[in-house]
Amino acid sequence: MAINASFQRKVDYLRISVTDRCNFRCKYCMPPDGVDYKSHDEIMRYEEILIFARIAVKAGIKRIRLTGGEPLVRRGLDKLIYQLNKLEGLEDISLTTNGYLLPEHANKLARVGLDRINVSLDTLDREKFKEISLVDGLPEVLAGLKAAQNAGLNPIKLNTVLIRGFNDNEVSDFIKFTKAHNYNFRFIEFMPLNGSSQDNDSKYISIDEIKARIKSAGFKLTPAEIPGGGPATSYQIDDTQATVGFISPISHSFCSSCNRLRLTSDGKLRPCLAMAKEYDLYDQSGNLLPEDKLKEILDQACSLKPDHHDFANEEDYGRNMSQIGG
Ligand code: SF4
Repeated sequence: MAINASFQRKVDYLRISVTDRCNFRCKYCMPPDGVDYKSHDEIMRYEEILIFARIAVKAGIKRIRLTGGEPLVRRGLDKLIYQLNKLEGLEDISLTTNGYLLPEHANKLARVGLDRINVSLDTLDREKFKEISLVDGLPEVLAGLKAAQNAGLNPIKLNTVLIRGFNDNEVSDFIKFTKAHNYNFRFIEFMPLNGSSQDNDSKYISIDEIKARIKSAGFKLTPAEIPGGGPATSYQIDDTQATVGFISPISHSFCSSCNRLRLTSDGKLRPCLAMAKEYDLYDQSGNLLPEDKLKEILDQACSLKPDHHDFANEEDYGRNMSQIGG
């Protein structure tokens, strides 16, 4: 794969958003008045995703993560995974989901070759869950986690965005829950995707503060290596198999080692979550570009990866989080 010219690193991880639709309305992800979803015609067909994925894998992409919106709301996802699984050189296929539809899909996904899942879970309190996602869905998500574990989609990673005044008082509960089920839990710092404001600043809580709270609650954290751990620094909790990881894009930026590209559901390749720049994979008539052009775009996107983000000052990312795929 192309090595970034300005900052020597290998880009070998592609996140593919298969839909901008979601069955939740998380407050930090979507604006209160909702988003205009893309029409069916504007979304990449699975055949087109496969064409791009094949080129990307040939160029050096080793891991693909499917995202949304919520990827499980798109029909036939298992067929895409089945085809991706045949790509020679692709080592890992994972999925980021809100977990709500896992009870019905987990077995099928495991059968067609999905390796792992990440589930976004921001609270263990049913009322708060409803408040943030606008859906009373915690029981389904917890059932989904069990279904995934039973289907062998292990290790299961749980991602939690910490928001001061909303869920930072649940830190000990999250750790106990993780220990009880042997999950890999990850705390993620709140990212002010709409620029810095008093409201955003008051929600932010640093990973250092959370780590200190876990320790003062009496849990023992021992440094651990987690396969596919990405930017998280991980620790084993007490003497269990359960781990907790910390992702701190704001307080400890990991941009200089970021190895990922993002493909949006309408076929735009983005070098970075925190930049509005994106490359269109289609020509003006709406046809997917020829393979040599797609490869060129892949190289260009790699070379544009920045060595630092500017979350606090960037005002316009061109899209909401749900449209980029997190
Ligand atoms: S895409 Fe994820 S964060 Fe956004 S509304 Fe859906 S579940 Fe919530």
